[in-house]
Amino acid sequence: MHDLGDLYQQLILDHNKSPRNRRRIVSPSQTSEGYNPLCGDRITLDLLLNGNVIEDIAFEGAGCAISTAAASLMTQTLKGRTIADAEALFEKYHRLVAEEDGELSGDDGEPKLGKLKAFAGVRKYPARVKCATLAWHTLKAALEDRHDVVSTE
Ligand code: ZN
Repeated sequence: MHDLGDLYQQLILDHNKSPRNRRRIVSPSQTSEGYNPLCGDRITLDLLLNGNVIEDIAFEGAGCAISTAAASLMTQTLKGRTIADAEALFEKYHRLVAEEDGELSGDDGEPKLGKLKAFAGVRKYPARVKCATLAWHTLKAALEDRHDVVSTE
């Protein structure tokens, strides 16, 4: 499994260096802001919905490598998927990064975590869990059409 770990680490480094969908959407359906005071990560998330489908999703912000890569991989994963898929993936992802037995719960059934599994190692660093989930909490606020700034504290 050592090689797989390296591969995942490279994926995170790559997404930090060249974040996908880091831009603003001109006329978004929803916009939400998130802040992780523990690390100083900030994100602005734009969503363009077409019915139940996330037609476009983009972010801007400044933060650590984990938070940037997590936002990048989240947007890449969710673009073109339904809101229900996004909510199901958030639950799976949260288990993966935050729960003791997250890795054992596997990735059965749809929607699959896929590349998001790169963040499994975050579980070993509790302080970084908030970095890895900030974008997702911000997404949830956008889907719920909340306008307050999301804080992980
Ligand atoms: Zn961070």
